[in-house]
Amino acid sequence: KTFAESGLPKEVLECCKSFDKPSPIQSHSWPYLLNKRDFIGIAATGSGKTLAFGVPAIMHVLQNQKSKTSKRVNPLCLVLSPTRELAQQISDVLCDAGKPCGLQSVCVYGGTSKGPQISALKSGVDIVIGTPGRLKDLIEMGVCYLKEVSFVVLDEADRMLDMGFEPEVRSILSQTCTMIENFKNYAARQMVMFSATWPLPVHQLAQEFMDPNPVKV
Ligand code: AMP
Repeated sequence: KTFAESGLPKEVLECCKSFDKPSPIQSHSWPYLLNKRDFIGIAATGSGKTLAFGVPAIMHVLQNQKSKTSKRVNPLCLVLSPTRELAQQISDVLCDAGKPCGLQSVCVYGGTSKGPQISALKSGVDIVIGTPGRLKDLIEMGVCYLKEVSFVVLDEADRMLDMGFEPEVRSILSQTCTMIENFKNYAARQMVMFSATWPLPVHQLAQEFMDPNPVKV
């Protein structure tokens, strides 16, 4: 498979222009994610997984934004990461990848002052990337609203639960995609999970928050 065969717009593929072809995880995930399927990827770091979910996340925003010119206040996509380092790494990739499309990504994490993160959120955000603890704080402060989030990524889900973030993750997930009046909000929310392993707590989280038949690669 080539990038041209993906049929993606040129500005979305800008971020891939230094690569020869999609990595295996990208060519396996893109067709499903672009088709709105929920997706579980068992993949290690270094496989190109950031763009495996990043490119579909950007497409999701482009397809769902109200207008190209008006600045969005509430994010449409959320990426949760267990650590600050991973969050920053994802944010760097998504900021670059989203720039040619005019998208704004904001990264929030603990261990640093909230002020600049709050200002960034207030200036408009399409994709929010964050660690669970800080994101929950910002939600509780009323400076981050997830009601319009309809594309969610849990990166390194196993590590996130190992680190004890399960209550925060559950609380955050339950606040996404609440604009649509639908008890089963998984139907309106597209969800992606990446994990290196597949232990029971991760499996249970997927069962609870994902579509009943996610694609597993
Ligand atoms: P990740 O697994 O997302 O952390 O990506 C690991 C590395 O692979 C990063 O340095 C990316 O720039 C690079 N990468 C991502 N997609 C591709 C691709 N299609 N071909 C070659 N390298 C890639």
